[in-house]
Amino acid sequence: MYDVAIVGAGINGSALAYTLQKEGLSVALFDTAVGAGGSGAAGAFLSPKFLKSSPVKTFINEALDEAFSFYEEVAGELISRYPLLHIAKDERDAKNIRYMKEHDEIEMLHSSPPFIPQNEYVYTAKSALVDAKKMCLRLADSATFFNEKVESLQKEKDGWRLNGSYRAKNVVLATGAYESLLKEPYLEGVLRGIWGHRIDVKSASYRSDCSIHQYVSISATKDDLLSIGATHDVHFRPDGAQKYDFAKGRAELLQKANTTLSLGDAKVIQDYVGLRSGSIDHLPLVGGVADLQATLQKHSVFELKKKSLQEEAYVFHKGLYMINGSAGYGFVLAPRLARLLSRHIVAGEPIDSLLLPSRFLSRYVRRKL
Ligand SMILES: Cc1cc2nc3c(=O)[nH]c(=O)nc-3n(C[C@H](O)[C@H](O)[C@H](O)COP(=O)(O)OP(=O)(O)OC[C@H]3O[C@@H](n4cnc5c(N)ncnc54)[C@H](O)[C@@H]3O)c2cc1C
Repeated sequence: MYDVAIVGAGINGSALAYTLQKEGLSVALFDTAVGAGGSGAAGAFLSPKFLKSSPVKTFINEALDEAFSFYEEVAGELISRYPLLHIAKDERDAKNIRYMKEHDEIEMLHSSPPFIPQNEYVYTAKSALVDAKKMCLRLADSATFFNEKVESLQKEKDGWRLNGSYRAKNVVLATGAYESLLKEPYLEGVLRGIWGHRIDVKSASYRSDCSIHQYVSISATKDDLLSIGATHDVHFRPDGAQKYDFAKGRAELLQKANTTLSLGDAKVIQDYVGLRSGSIDHLPLVGGVADLQATLQKHSVFELKKKSLQEEAYVFHKGLYMINGSAGYGFVLAPRLARLLSRHIVAGEPIDSLLLPSRFLSRYVRRKL
């Protein structure tokens, strides 16, 4: 019997496995491969969110410093620190950048960027690139890895049974946008898959030790390549009838990159594609999974519609948790989400209600019942 079984070995599942193992727990990790989903496709670029005040921006920017330290501690050789030149793509973006500069929310580098953009910009040291796949593999090493898809999850008296044969006291669903083992109506439609394509290219004319971010991000890599990404497509599903058009994706990425700077004759070396999972309020979901039916047996619909209802009022699936919805910031957020969930499982430490999956339960009751 494992202390925790994690379903999904993307950056969220793998970072959680590492963090729980450091707390002394035994961890089983399940997936068809480590980094089989969105995490294997990611850049993975770590950078701040350039917005005016919002809970999403606050959460991402607070998580960023934690992410730098976490990855450096786990495997310093798999993270490269490059300065970032972030250029506004439109007037709304420019306003956000000006707001952050005026409120001293971003440390600017005093040296000159590789070129001076016409639009509003930020030149900062607060960015890095993580070797996504290798980092997931390194983190996943701390768990017992089972190379299989979890098809069944059954509740038992003292824990959970997975695929009929594995037993764990607790289960964490870290399945991204790929699969849902959860059948809770209040979570239906809360997460959506956003298909992304990025490319590694070799440019004959452009070389830089700086990451440039405008319509897409153009990041220097250790292999002297440029990582360009990523597209956003909310309609494409990899399991659907339509085949993905790689040529169209490449053309879109190169056209956007060339709007910022001239790459000259750029040769595509490799394509990466995958789904990110974004929530409808743009914040991730981390914490215990509330049981709608059991909660409705305990409270009337009238009570559940009250906005002031405390988290303790819900009835939870004992020992069932989730970590999901990091959208385009999965590598920035994973260390913090892993720490929050790990402390919650190990010591019962509360998680901010803004991040709890049950925030969608009261919303569901208010709208549907
Ligand atoms: C092209 C692209 C570029 C990106 N660039 C960046 C970037 O620069 N910086 C950044 O921070 N983020 C980036 N992201 C976003 C980031 O990759 C995601 O936020 C992150 O991967 C989410 O991690 P996850 O672990 O939640 O999901 P995933 O990595 O999708 O992992 C979920 C895993 O669960 C597995 N799974 C699902 N169901 C089951 C089951 N039943 N049994 C077993 N396993 C199951 C899947 O196989 C998958 O491996 C990018 C994403 C894409 C697609």
